[in-house]
Amino acid sequence: MEVKTSLLDNMIGVGDMVLLEPLNEDSFIENLRKRFDHNEIYTYIGSVVISMNPYRSLPIFTPEKVEEYLPGLDEAYRSLRDQDKDQCILITGESGAGKTEASKLVMSYVAAVCGKGQEVNKVKEQLLQSNPVLEAFGNAKTVRNDNSSRFGKYMDIEFDFKGDPLGGVISNYLLEKSRVCKQPRGERNFHIFYQLLSGASGDTLTKLKLDRDFSKYNYLSLDSATVNGLDDAASFRTVRNAMQIVGFMEDEVQLVLELVAAVLKLGNIEFKPESRVNGFDESRVKDKNDLKEMCELLGIEQSVLERAFSYRTVEAKMEKVSTTLNVAQAYYARDALAKNLYSRLFSWLVTRINESIKAQAKTRHKVMGVLDIYGFEIFEDNSFEQFIINYCNEKLQQIFIELTLREEQEEYVREGIEWTNIEYFNNAIICDLIENNQNGILAMLDEECLRPGTVTDDTFLDKLNTICAEHQHFESRLSKNSKFLTDHSLPHSCFRIQHYAGKVLYRVEGFVDKNNDLLYRDLSQAMYKATHSLMRQLFPEGNPAKVNLKRPLTAGTVLCIKPNDKKAAHIFTDSLVCHQVRYLGLMENVRVRRAGYAFRQPYEPCLERYKMLCKQTWPHWRGPARDGVEVLLTDCSVPAEEFAYGRSKIFIRNPRTLFTLEERRRA
Ligand code: ATP
Ligand code: MG
Repeated sequence: MEVKTSLLDNMIGVGDMVLLEPLNEDSFIENLRKRFDHNEIYTYIGSVVISMNPYRSLPIFTPEKVEEYLPGLDEAYRSLRDQDKDQCILITGESGAGKTEASKLVMSYVAAVCGKGQEVNKVKEQLLQSNPVLEAFGNAKTVRNDNSSRFGKYMDIEFDFKGDPLGGVISNYLLEKSRVCKQPRGERNFHIFYQLLSGASGDTLTKLKLDRDFSKYNYLSLDSATVNGLDDAASFRTVRNAMQIVGFMEDEVQLVLELVAAVLKLGNIEFKPESRVNGFDESRVKDKNDLKEMCELLGIEQSVLERAFSYRTVEAKMEKVSTTLNVAQAYYARDALAKNLYSRLFSWLVTRINESIKAQAKTRHKVMGVLDIYGFEIFEDNSFEQFIINYCNEKLQQIFIELTLREEQEEYVREGIEWTNIEYFNNAIICDLIENNQNGILAMLDEECLRPGTVTDDTFLDKLNTICAEHQHFESRLSKNSKFLTDHSLPHSCFRIQHYAGKVLYRVEGFVDKNNDLLYRDLSQAMYKATHSLMRQLFPEGNPAKVNLKRPLTAGTVLCIKPNDKKAAHIFTDSLVCHQVRYLGLMENVRVRRAGYAFRQPYEPCLERYKMLCKQTWPHWRGPARDGVEVLLTDCSVPAEEFAYGRSKIFIRNPRTLFTLEERRRA
């Protein structure tokens, strides 16, 4: 039988953890370390790939080599082509572990193995070049990662029946839009702002009414404006070039840059109070120059926008009432506008890219999905953004558990395959705590936001504490395992959740506002009146994207592990790796895989597909399909320990066995 030798027979450690002897946590981590020290960053658990971030370029990353180093990917691709199955690659790991790099590798791999015609090459190029565009607008430097994804991305690559790519569809989830106005210490705004200011020609900047100096802009944090190893000016050229390849017209690029400039201008608009006779302070724009320039960029009448920063119209009982905004409210309105403008621009970019890369022909056959989201984050101070990001990761972990552990074991039992259950931690209880429709944290937050009367972050927290405490009181089974931690050491205005990846303390300040993210109607109407053609499209008041992770049929998985906390090469910190190995449930995974079977198929289609390989089954087998498959496999001399007979399906241990059958079929 043909076996890919590069990993399985590798002299450096064990390429597939399923073959590790003895199997325990120490030997597991030792094996990862040994391989890491020798630049072997990929290790398998059956078809799950563990990828260790090397924090430097290794010579193996040419697309041609990908196939050799990532046979798991090869399997996913072959199953798609030969078994007619849609595939999905889930990539998980904490921030900085290498998910985005891995997802790009998957795409390079696809580009490397499939057809080479002119049309196909164009599709590939466009798919690949969508990355720099999305990263410029959706990634930022954070404390954990100099190129951290601040949005979730799911990309379907569509293939024809030959296995050549036809195009793709990208879905984006929940851009971290609060970053547009404010960045945590040591972090930056989205790359594009710095790239534009550093890389655009003087001419372009003049047209956009921008100054090259970062320090001129309120929305750009200064303590880490330039990042070692990031060349913003060069990246700008890469992004411009990528936009062109993806199919953006020159004037579209111009429209996009105008909006980026408008956001910077908007951030510079400041307000001062003007006292009114009734004793209230009313907000006025302080220095009108930025306001003027922003309006010029967007083709908005200055007085309309100015008014929208001082008054807001509320509709009560069919009557329109105008109320004044104080300075704090005006700032709030300004930031809400900036966040909305930017996040809508981002969604528009995704839609526009999709228009270019979508499959032209109607012969779409199968898809391979690649899911890359922002990684789990624990900071000292965690806010609404971390809460959402960590919730997404919690969901993803659940999908992973379901696919690799729960469904797997349940199927063996259902099919009557001899099986001893392997215990694992199921994080469904944490997801429920957050997303339960009645008393989940998100539902409570929504309810609080809709409640009339004074709603503050603290009333939300009170409610959370009361309901979660009740919950724990009544459901003693839950309380024992409760993931909502109420101990008395909690700092003021905080709650703590025991996530699968660790305990996280969240500060509720800003939760209500960020969940509401109110954009006063006067402002969106002002935007809609703009003559800027792209701007008008962005404000038709649609629904914000909701988390909606597509559930794949079958999955390949890449688990990314971060070897150290210093963004540095060559360092392998045991405790950090061990922590990740534990929460990702890797030991349990090896145990299930070891005892398990990689491939299964109902008897009838299996017989139908391979009956030509055996005289006794060709062209017709009379009798139960199960017996036919047995005759067939014995005749093909597949070793007995390679398969097991379930009630309705045949189970095959090693996918390579299947590929051997496939190859004989083709021969
Ligand atoms: P986040 O959740 O913050 O988006 P991530 O898991 O997507 O994090 P990446 O952006 O993929 O992390 O990786 C972080 C950095 O680590 C990269 O910018 C790169 O410097 C390095 N890195 C990751 N994977 C590789 C790799 N396979 N080879 C070389 N360097 C890598
Ligand atoms: Mg990323």
